[in-house]
Amino acid sequence: MKIQDLVRENIKTLEPYSSARDEFEGLKKDMVFLDANENPFNNGVNRYPDPQHYRIRELLSSIRKIRIQHILLGNGSDEVLDLIFRVFCEPKKDNVITLPPTYGMYGVLANINNVETVQVALDENFQPRVDAILEAANENSKLLFLCSPNNPTANSFESAKIERLIEEFKGIVVIDEAYIDFTEEESWIRKLKKYPNLIVIQTLSKAYGMAGIRLGICYASEYIISMLNRIKPPYNVNELTQQRAAKILLYKEGLKREVNVILEEREQLIKSLKTIPFIEKIYPSNANFILVKVDDANKRYAELIKHGIVVRNRTTQSLCENCLRLTVGTSNENRKLMYALKQL
Ligand SMILES: *Cc1c(COP(=O)(O)O)cnc(C)c1O
Repeated sequence: MKIQDLVRENIKTLEPYSSARDEFEGLKKDMVFLDANENPFNNGVNRYPDPQHYRIRELLSSIRKIRIQHILLGNGSDEVLDLIFRVFCEPKKDNVITLPPTYGMYGVLANINNVETVQVALDENFQPRVDAILEAANENSKLLFLCSPNNPTANSFESAKIERLIEEFKGIVVIDEAYIDFTEEESWIRKLKKYPNLIVIQTLSKAYGMAGIRLGICYASEYIISMLNRIKPPYNVNELTQQRAAKILLYKEGLKREVNVILEEREQLIKSLKTIPFIEKIYPSNANFILVKVDDANKRYAELIKHGIVVRNRTTQSLCENCLRLTVGTSNENRKLMYALKQL
């Protein structure tokens, strides 16, 4: 399999937009910049942001131990995912494979891009059915989305299953690691050298506590990154986001502490949830949320709203009948949740 053959023809041949900042790379402080029609009066954000996001990519490069040529940033993972669709999927012709129940954006982005979604449900342990997935794939199957730990089921996929899929699927395997920092597992980034058809997605939205700044991260081969770069909007990550991201990435100890508190709270919450009679099942969690099966999800969801608590009702998702997804909050928030549940 040649990765080049998976890329859409028009993407391979298009002439990318070249911004003023792209054409002058050596952004030296003592130069006079009269090239981008900016307002010259300094207020901290009067200049266009760095389109190549060097500072953030360098920080990520040292944290994740991977060269910056393998890193691309987007306005949230959602933008990164959209770029991947547009590089690889020919509308009305190609298809992608998703494994429900999983993150809804894969299917939404497929619809927006007019690309068919082939769904192969997870098994009863929420693990990928490898043979069924490989059978469902055809020559137009360009992308396979593996979300691990998976949203909304909260479990990680077995690495042997992931590895077999990367080796045998004849397209790009996208592993969404939005929740990786809540686990002990190693990122699949370490396998990028071995597997040229692998893309790993991460985000600052969850463990890093930065959902508001919108920063998604894509790790892949230099070739795939160069193709994504061809279609990336030039200034897709704004200056304020880049500044704030640099700060948080330098402050790793704080991140560890918060993640540990969330994990302790999760264990505490699981213990307390076991005492609620209408909670029939608590699924194991490798993430900062817990999936529970209740007697009647619609009813319990509405009752919690009345008590001022918003959870996610996942009852319409396959294999998630009567399931609610509970994000682990602060100890105070989790106490409020438990107090409300005991009233019902
Ligand atoms: C929350 C989440 C993301 C994060 O998306 P952003 O656009 O980076 O905020 C990505 N994938 C999954 C599975 C998620 O649950």
